[in-house]
Amino acid sequence: MDAARSWATAVGIRDGRIVYVGSDSLPSGLVGSNTEVVDLGGKMVLPGFQDGHVHPISSGVDLGECGLDDLTTPVAIADSIRACARAQSDRPWIRGGGWQLPVFKDANPSKLLLDQAVPDRPAIFTAADGHSAWANSRALELAGVSSKTPDPPHGRIERDPRTGEPSGTLREDAIALVSRVVPPRTNAELSAGLDRAQKLANRFGITTVFNAATDEQSLRTFAEAERKGSLTLRVVAAIHLGDPLADSLLPKLTELRSRYTGPRLRPSAVKLFADGVIESRTAALLAPYLGRGGDAGKPVYDPAALKDLAVALDRDGFQIHVHAIGDRAVRMTLDAFAYARARNGAHDARHTITHLELIDSSDIPRFRALGAVANFQALWANGDEYLTELTEPALGARRSRWLYPIASVVLSGAVVSGGSDWSVSSLNPLEAIETGITHRPPGDDEQPAWNPAERVDLATMLAMYTINAAYANHLERETGSIEVGKLADLIVLDRNLFETPPEEIHTVRVVRTLLEGKTIFQQD
Ligand SMILES: [Zn+2]
Repeated sequence: MDAARSWATAVGIRDGRIVYVGSDSLPSGLVGSNTEVVDLGGKMVLPGFQDGHVHPISSGVDLGECGLDDLTTPVAIADSIRACARAQSDRPWIRGGGWQLPVFKDANPSKLLLDQAVPDRPAIFTAADGHSAWANSRALELAGVSSKTPDPPHGRIERDPRTGEPSGTLREDAIALVSRVVPPRTNAELSAGLDRAQKLANRFGITTVFNAATDEQSLRTFAEAERKGSLTLRVVAAIHLGDPLADSLLPKLTELRSRYTGPRLRPSAVKLFADGVIESRTAALLAPYLGRGGDAGKPVYDPAALKDLAVALDRDGFQIHVHAIGDRAVRMTLDAFAYARARNGAHDARHTITHLELIDSSDIPRFRALGAVANFQALWANGDEYLTELTEPALGARRSRWLYPIASVVLSGAVVSGGSDWSVSSLNPLEAIETGITHRPPGDDEQPAWNPAERVDLATMLAMYTINAAYANHLERETGSIEVGKLADLIVLDRNLFETPPEEIHTVRVVRTLLEGKTIFQQD
């Protein structure tokens, strides 16, 4: 993954750094009596993967709880929740997440189904995308959410159309109406979550993560792991502290950045949400959703407020990491980056927009012009029900052409990075790499490729998960390619990806992961 995309057959490591890259005929003096020589038998070595947008701690916590991601019917979900509740008879709240929106009609599960599964205690389950939650009657009661509760400014309480009673599903900021009465996680729960997350990440060959929304408790968890020597990931973190418009917040952000920066932990970014998601009609569009009476979704910020916020964060040296899904949210965010650049002058900010589900084609050249990074979740471009049933019908064919326009943004010359958004979707980079090439679900070689014009090739996908993500993380001088002088963050794959049919890429296994030359995962 150097600039020339060179190939080599041997690599030498000393004191955690790469000291040789070349052929098997090593220069004399390189191998001494203490050198360990490893013959990989023709397996493939790559730089460690970097995940450009992921939620490791909360997803690791979820892994240890009631996960619903793989279930495909309401009945299976209710059965699974009932079993979880029985196994957790000592807990005052039953919680979990991962339910997939297309399982329920209009992505709108009812509290009555959850009441049957958990009749005796409050229960709340977040959707796989994190933008909806499903509460039972006890939880709604405890939170005081009733037919009289108004929708919050950036959220929606789904209701029975006749009575106005909350029906059980909460969108965006309405989730907080209930989640604020749920007991907070303990530090021990978060540490256990981080341990689970880094084991899985290292197993998938991930050596660096961009933690996409980090509160102070999570920063403390990472810092504690670093202090104990148990942090096996490099972590660049985007701090997220609720509404960043509150005046007191900027000093707090700089304070957290300086307090928690360590050798492997860098809280140098700030996370903002510009809108919601298309599936629940909370993304901000330039033109209305089809069939919703002119509703185009609302951006989270007033455009002028977003600009002022970008100026302030940019001036304080933060990398701004913005969730933008609808084409209006994307445009507003690019406008805010442009405004910050005009006010503060151009510098090496590498502000990033993540998710980028729908981009108006006229905005595509602006990423490169503004030096902004485009972070895509390529696994989402797979033609599944999220797209065919919940997204394309809301946009129509003409606009749907510009869903996940990864190839167009790559061709424009912008830096494009990859990310899983785990636990929204699989943490395994090889699944996203496959889907970016095929535009089909991993392993599928039958259904026609979805939006085929926006597919990219293997080398591009690998760059998105290595050198480009390293650039987005301001780590490209130290990581992201196998070059002399860089840190030895390396992975060994059981096969050469360039000789593997695309629909088999997700079956390739990482057999060994090294962080600074030290083995942190090895397949047994
Ligand atoms: Zn995310």
